[in-house]
Amino acid sequence: MTVGGFLSLPQSCPSFAAPIDSRNTVAAVAAASNPGALRFRHKSFPSATYLRAPRRAMDPPRCLGSSDLEEATDDIAAAATLQRGVPSDLVEKMMYDALVWSALHGLVVGDRRVQNSGTVPGVGLVHAPFALLPMSFPKAYWRQACELAPIFNELVDRASLDAKFLQDSLSRTKKVDAFTSRLLDIHSKMLEINKTEDIRLGLHRSDYMLDSETNLLLQIELNTISSSFPGLSCLVSELHRNLLNQYGKDLGLDSRRVPGNTAVSRFADALAKAWNEYNNCSAVVMVVVQSEERNMYDQHWLCAVLKEMHGVATIRKTLSEIDTQGHVLPDGSLVVDGQTVAVIYFRAGYSPNDYPSEAEWRARFLMEKSSAIKCPSIAYHLVGTKKIQQELAKPNVLERFLDNEDIAKVRKCFAGLWSLDDPDAVKSAIEKPDLFVLKPQREGGGNNIYGDNVRETLIRLQQQGTGELAAYILMQRIFPTASLAFLVREGVWHQDNAISELGIYGAYLRNKDKVIMNDQCGYLMRTKVSSSNEGGVAAGFAVLDSIYLT
Ligand code: ADP
Ligand code: MG
Repeated sequence: MTVGGFLSLPQSCPSFAAPIDSRNTVAAVAAASNPGALRFRHKSFPSATYLRAPRRAMDPPRCLGSSDLEEATDDIAAAATLQRGVPSDLVEKMMYDALVWSALHGLVVGDRRVQNSGTVPGVGLVHAPFALLPMSFPKAYWRQACELAPIFNELVDRASLDAKFLQDSLSRTKKVDAFTSRLLDIHSKMLEINKTEDIRLGLHRSDYMLDSETNLLLQIELNTISSSFPGLSCLVSELHRNLLNQYGKDLGLDSRRVPGNTAVSRFADALAKAWNEYNNCSAVVMVVVQSEERNMYDQHWLCAVLKEMHGVATIRKTLSEIDTQGHVLPDGSLVVDGQTVAVIYFRAGYSPNDYPSEAEWRARFLMEKSSAIKCPSIAYHLVGTKKIQQELAKPNVLERFLDNEDIAKVRKCFAGLWSLDDPDAVKSAIEKPDLFVLKPQREGGGNNIYGDNVRETLIRLQQQGTGELAAYILMQRIFPTASLAFLVREGVWHQDNAISELGIYGAYLRNKDKVIMNDQCGYLMRTKVSSSNEGGVAAGFAVLDSIYLT
């Protein structure tokens, strides 16, 4: 994975760099020596022993129905200059508190500088990269993004059932992209054996940026596999509310304007409901993981909530372990390591790197042909590809899947998207590459092509004439307004011009004709320095953030 510009930027507060490890160690040692004393738990546990500043009378608003907000003091000006002119002694105080809070509340990732931090839980933890203060975000766009979540959930489900649409749309990509081709092969084999998925579970995240040129909320992409950070994003919202409860008066900010974030508990609800539909009380939820995962605590939060709130057990397996330990019984049940699997939750399997040998593909095929509920199924996975995003944006395609009112809402958030068999689009992109992003069929950050590289790549691929253009799509480049933010990584902050990307989680569960759940489920805000093209947190480009409604 690429590590982006963040670390290489000047760091304004070197004095914070040294003590952070020792502070983390103190928390860890205290917890180990007196486990009863430090029972910090996630916001989502109602039974939680949870230390924080006393709550204000009014709960923070959730994503929808945020009319409560009207009561909060209207201070848009403060929000616009949210992170300007904060005295440095206040920044230092907030930094210290935020770092302690993160260590005590599990807002952590594995530290890449420590060996085993991606394999052994509890070894080499560091706070997740975060923004010190929430980013301002207009209420109307927030409502729009929330309202879109159930529509996208439904769209994914309906498109997933149109096998011909998926196969036809991806047919040219298949010829030049080996990874997409393997996914499509599995999809074809399921069609051959008439495999249907009666119970369908989607845990999606639709990502948006606010485009300053058009003043529109535009979708970056729709993730249907391994939508990350449902666990840690909730904690960042909580951290920000906590800081504003304490320092809000000094900053002129109101913690009630940071919306409550329910991602982890709602995703756990959805997994539990799916598990329930499978109707085998001894079965488990299997999390498909990479063999090394520094973002494991985000996943563990979800599993912990699932266990504590719903009594559902999880197992964690890599694709290669599933290959050696798994089999499908004659009745279709998937058994892995002796345990029947009710739900397969993928936090791996979205990238070619996850399939280094045939063993991993065998595992994917084994799971797909089983009766376990897949989150996502191969069809849901394919709907989330960038090629399908571009096909859905073509005229008269949404009409196949959605009703009129919903079509207008969805179309409004589509940026310009073009296939590279459109010569006009290719010509425009070669002439003005800065206005476009060139995207291959990849997930996980660090794969897109920007600026002059767009021109060079297009010219090279055209000259090769091998059809490789079909491996990419072209997208209108979105230009969000930059504003100052305090970005914190490895115990050090710096202030920079930054832009943000808002992800709205959505969960969808149905069993045949019965839609059991179709909801928006909280949010993920990510903020990165405006000079960085890419946006992944795990990939090292962005920090976790929350929003301050204006
Ligand atoms: P991935 O599957 O790798 O996450 P994305 O489509 O989300 O792919 O792109 C990665 C990042 O690149 C995004 O998080 C965003 O920061 C940036 N990006 C993607 N598309 C655009 C766009 N059209 N305009 C501006 N930035 C974009
Ligand atoms: Mg993305």
